[in-house]
Amino acid sequence: MIIVMKQNTTPEQLKHIVSWVEDQGYGTHVSQGEERTIVGVIGDERPLDPTQVERLDGVERTLTILAPYKLASLDMQPEPTRVPLNGMSVGDNRVALIAGPCSVESREQILETAHAVKEAGGTALRGGAYKPRTSPYSFQGMGLAGLELLAEAREASGLPIVTEVMAPEQVSLVAQYANVLQIGARNMQNYNLLKAVGGTNTPVLLKRGMMNTMEELLMSAEYILSCGNNKVMLCERGIRTFETYTRNTFDVNAIPALKARTHLPIIADPSHATGHWEYVESAALAAVAAGADGLIIEVHPHPEEAVSDGLQSLKLDRFAELVPRLRAVAEAVGRTL
Ligand code: PEP
Ligand code: MN
Repeated sequence: MIIVMKQNTTPEQLKHIVSWVEDQGYGTHVSQGEERTIVGVIGDERPLDPTQVERLDGVERTLTILAPYKLASLDMQPEPTRVPLNGMSVGDNRVALIAGPCSVESREQILETAHAVKEAGGTALRGGAYKPRTSPYSFQGMGLAGLELLAEAREASGLPIVTEVMAPEQVSLVAQYANVLQIGARNMQNYNLLKAVGGTNTPVLLKRGMMNTMEELLMSAEYILSCGNNKVMLCERGIRTFETYTRNTFDVNAIPALKARTHLPIIADPSHATGHWEYVESAALAAVAAGADGLIIEVHPHPEEAVSDGLQSLKLDRFAELVPRLRAVAEAVGRTL
């Protein structure tokens, strides 16, 4: 349930409502918008009696949230969530640009990439130190040594780090290095991992599973939000379909369809969505046109030598050339980049 407070509600009335709701055994989530204050009632399926709530001082009306996710819903929080990243707020007018290699491979590779991403106007550097690979025989990531190289690249370039965490027991270590914790597609429904990142204060980039619906993605976000971490960004990275010419099918629909339901920022990943560097630029431009709040793009100094995802990685100069084109599209749809 959502309790919409009257416009002239006093802080005492608000405090009273919150403690009254909590005394009934529910959690609360207060959202102070520009015009209205909303108190979200969080709890089990047993609803509060609306007529009882509406009799309390300061309450204008109550609404029932029909969606199974609550904290992630636009009803609960009509204002967009803004996630701080490198001095900007992801979810605001400016489109964020995260780029970097699929995997951290060496000092030279990550430093060269970091400088190039910075130079091109990137917001943050991505790079996997722990890699979820389809085959156990494929490169699994550099682990701690990779995290240390990411920290060195951040120091050298000033770019914050986006890196994947694969297991709950790794969260405290990875969070010491990461500015954003990435939850990979294969882990979207690893509920213990979602709870573990929900217990941190570090922003989370939650990727949509390759076979998951948008509603399942929002339910996974709800896990993180309900553990107290509200800095969640959703990532559309393509879904599996019958198509074979591309690695995945980029679900551009997900951008407006998620935006119609949630206040969380939406990031698009055209690299995993297409799987081929030749298509990455078009998909990236389309994502910005469709209203994405940010992009995460795989780039590599020598894609032909990459240990993972070289086929879908842009060379550094191609990435630099893409940025002004992305900016032009952003401006055409009333945004900046
Ligand atoms: C990645 O970002 O390199 C990655 C493994 O992505 P996904 O989880 O979307 O497959
Ligand atoms: Mn990758």
